[in-house]
Amino acid sequence: MNTNNVDHLELDKFSELAHRWWDPQSEFKPLHDINPLRLNYIDEIVKLHKKQVLDVGCGGGILAESMAARGAIVIGIDLAEKPLKVAELHLIESGQQVEYRKISAEDLAAERPASFDVVTCMELLEHVPDPAATVAACAALVKPGGHVFFSTLNRNPKSYLFAIIGAEYVLRMLPRGTHDYARFIKPSELATLCRRAQLTIGGLTGMTYNPFTQRYALEADASVNYMMHATR
Ligand code: SAH
Repeated sequence: MNTNNVDHLELDKFSELAHRWWDPQSEFKPLHDINPLRLNYIDEIVKLHKKQVLDVGCGGGILAESMAARGAIVIGIDLAEKPLKVAELHLIESGQQVEYRKISAEDLAAERPASFDVVTCMELLEHVPDPAATVAACAALVKPGGHVFFSTLNRNPKSYLFAIIGAEYVLRMLPRGTHDYARFIKPSELATLCRRAQLTIGGLTGMTYNPFTQRYALEADASVNYMMHATR
């Protein structure tokens, strides 16, 4: 197993909370709330129906299952055991079909290069020691002409205030220590990683949170959360 590009403390954090993954009022509420937005964004670009899709760092499977519900053939991978178990169990409840595997993106890229029409990698890059390697693995996994979607957190004073002080300390939406500011990635940096991995940037969209209405929206403002689309 490729054990280099993983922070085991990060996996432990997600495993500890995994039993609450599908509770929309839990620590995972933000993932539930943003899911329809990111799902529609992806589906509009790639038309998920019948596409071979890989979800990297799938966790409990919120995005993976929703893409399967749109008719995609989905594989979800993660390195944390408990979230994967929760994801498996949830299939019984939802009746969806997703293949879940405990394998790193790097190892799967060696096993099945250029195999997927679409690769999604959401809210993962800010938890790995070497995001460049993850981006490169995603690029290697997608077929030529295929699509890759990343989402992560921008790095600037506003994102520190919103994503850490606001979300973890003031609103307490996330447990303290969920995010490490030093691992946040500017869109320009992610674009560079994509280009180095032979990907072409297709688009960038911000995901904004309004604490008063408690709603997320896709907007041009990428100062905190954002999504990037690229093609191979
Ligand atoms: N992508 C999902 C879950 C995001 S939470 C979603 O957006 O809904 C981050 C996930 O990344 C967790 O499930 C965690 O176990 C996983 N993770 C952290 N480090 C990882 C690594 N090095 N390789 C694969 N998955 C990892």
